[in-house]
Amino acid sequence: MKISWRTILLWSVPILVIGFFVWQGAFATDTSNLGSNTASARMTYGRFMEYLEADRVKSVDLYEGGRTAIVEAVDPDLDNRVQRLRVDLPSNSPELISKLRENNISIDAHPTRSEGAIWGVLGNLIFPVLLIGSLFFLFRRSNNIPGGPGQAMSFGKSRARFQMEAKTGVMFEDVAGVDEAKEELEEVVTFLKQPEKFTAVGASIPKGVLLVGPPGTGKTLLAKAIAGEAGVPFFSISGSEFVEMFVGVGASRVRDLFKKAKENAPCLIFIDEIDAVGRQRGAGIGGGNDEREQTLNQLLTEMDGFEGNNGIIIIAATNRPDVLDTALLRPGRFDRQVTVDAPDIKGRIKILEVHARNKKLAPEISIEAIARRTPGFTGADLANLLNEAAILTARRRKEAMTMLEVDDAVDRVIAGMEGTPLVDGKSKRLIAYHEVGHAIVGTLLKEHDPVQKVTLVPRGQAQGLTWFTPDEEQGLTSKSQLMARIAGILGGRAAEEEIFGYDEVTTGAGGDLQQVTTLVRQMVTRFGMSDLGPMSLESQSGEVFLGGGFMNRSEYSEEVAARIDHQVRSIIEHGHGVARKIIRENREVIDRLVDLLIEKETIDGAEFRQIVSEYTQVPEKEQFVPQL
Ligand code: ADP
Ligand code: MG
Ligand code: ZN
Repeated sequence: MKISWRTILLWSVPILVIGFFVWQGAFATDTSNLGSNTASARMTYGRFMEYLEADRVKSVDLYEGGRTAIVEAVDPDLDNRVQRLRVDLPSNSPELISKLRENNISIDAHPTRSEGAIWGVLGNLIFPVLLIGSLFFLFRRSNNIPGGPGQAMSFGKSRARFQMEAKTGVMFEDVAGVDEAKEELEEVVTFLKQPEKFTAVGASIPKGVLLVGPPGTGKTLLAKAIAGEAGVPFFSISGSEFVEMFVGVGASRVRDLFKKAKENAPCLIFIDEIDAVGRQRGAGIGGGNDEREQTLNQLLTEMDGFEGNNGIIIIAATNRPDVLDTALLRPGRFDRQVTVDAPDIKGRIKILEVHARNKKLAPEISIEAIARRTPGFTGADLANLLNEAAILTARRRKEAMTMLEVDDAVDRVIAGMEGTPLVDGKSKRLIAYHEVGHAIVGTLLKEHDPVQKVTLVPRGQAQGLTWFTPDEEQGLTSKSQLMARIAGILGGRAAEEEIFGYDEVTTGAGGDLQQVTTLVRQMVTRFGMSDLGPMSLESQSGEVFLGGGFMNRSEYSEEVAARIDHQVRSIIEHGHGVARKIIRENREVIDRLVDLLIEKETIDGAEFRQIVSEYTQVPEKEQFVPQL
């Protein structure tokens, strides 16, 4: 068992600290020991000699082997009052002693801080003893005695961290809406089931497949389905479980996993979150992460060490393929990539159908309507949504789930738990104006998504909410759409300002302002939508991870940074101006909508538009509606 120096260093920090305090503590006792029977006033050695000459010294007590003395001296200026003064003596000078004796001054020598000395010795000893002791302790633990003290830290071999399922019970029909991925993976099933078919014609079977996609899109489920379809055991481990505090543990887990897999071939190994071990090597700051690199190297070695034809296929999943070490993606390793994306509306319908199988739905429920309300939802989100709706159905003691429960569940999944509405009062009015502000700006700007509903029922952090129906065609967003969105987000604060005055604006807009600032910054630094021109000034993710991205964090000069800030401010100011103008010009209908909202708590989009159109022209919105 190896223990890295890093670990030892890590452990020695607290030990050093404790040791230091014990040692310090020892010192503290002995100085205070001396201090307790002294006067605190000090005197220089020179002054002491003068006093001696002037016959003012009455007695001298020597401490610390003659290095310090407490001198009793009389002060003629103060009625010969006796002063106790402390003097540091240069060294143990015998002349001084004889001089003192000549002058008939009483001398007393005190033993060298007997009590303190013991503490001092102990203090000096405790530190190394602790250090050696804990190192010994560590080594003993690492020796991995089964059932012994080594258990606590769960070292490599004895603790198998991977799971094995002989039968996953998942089939391809349980995974919906990811047809392309499924098609590509059908082949993998054949590799596992009938390898002869391929080897007969001299084809070597691929070893690894990388599933790439955001969390919750069904990567784990797909891997299980492959094992289920092929009828082979499923070994799984998560990348984060490889990486432990001690060097070598991850590597030994990898060895173990492959050993077990070989014993059970044909089988499927699934490595989730492979980016946790598979990050680009040597990109760490101040030296790489030994442990991770060793684990990765072991993984690469194991993958090279077996022939693809012996019936083991490795499937790995990640949502950050960009950070993976290129060695992992080389032919003969994870040379196939399958993308698993969030489903489109057709996919959502199929996934909802899969998860509706075991639930009681009222006949009027439209799966299609649910799918339309949930753009951007992944498979996991949809499964969760139907489950929430089922819970609500049970709580409301209904026989079967209706659209009401589904709608409530969607709101809840997106915006959090429902709270109790405020009682009518100034705050409620202000919130109503704020929400109507968002909604009216969103309604009157042609490029903005249409309002779905406005509500004063609080959810999660929000006291009120305005929902918009997002455009289903989520691919690209134009600058004019973004500008409309900015004005819409600022509509809430703009309404507070117009109606209540600048001094009365509230903290309620904090979230809006944050959202708008992030959005506008991205427009300037990533999408080239400002006067700075078509330049990318920041990488895609603002996240700093220990690796490549760190060093080029600020590639631009201070001057450019100032220009970015300037652009951000001017775009936000523009959007704010647009919003305020709309609020000012539509005050009458806003007042009416606010009264209605306070009365009804929720206004749906169609009614909202209807009322607004009685006062002004409401632009038609072109929204992409997918044909089914
Ligand atoms: P990932 O591994 O991509 O993060 P999972 O496979 O763990 O996602 O998905 C979590 C759950 O979400 C699954 O157990 C399943 O219930 C549901 N789910 C996700 N994607 C799908 C899908 N395409 N079809 C059916 N259910 C899905
Ligand atoms: Mg998963
Ligand atoms: Zn708001």
